[in-house]
Amino acid sequence: MLFFPGWEPDKGMGRPVSTCVGCFQKHNKPDLLRVARTPEGSIVPDRDHRREGRGVYLCPRMECILNAEKEDRIARHLDATVSADVYKELKQWCGLS
Ligand SMILES: [Zn+2]
Repeated sequence: MLFFPGWEPDKGMGRPVSTCVGCFQKHNKPDLLRVARTPEGSIVPDRDHRREGRGVYLCPRMECILNAEKEDRIARHLDATVSADVYKELKQWCGLS
């Protein structure tokens, strides 16, 4: 895709978009997986986007999850420790969808 830097095709369209922490592309929020940090400070996969607290978004693609895992991006974005189980569950979701 040949987009000019800084040009955001979704801007102003009123659609909820979020940036995937695996590929840094913007996608429609409903298409993304969410990982939330609960008020207690634990990190939980949040497939239905229903958890309270801060969250990060990821494409349901193995590539994005592996990228995020490699650099521990969920932990960095949410300022918390992310257990291997979280990534395991994300990968399982990908395998199923
Ligand atoms: Zn992605």
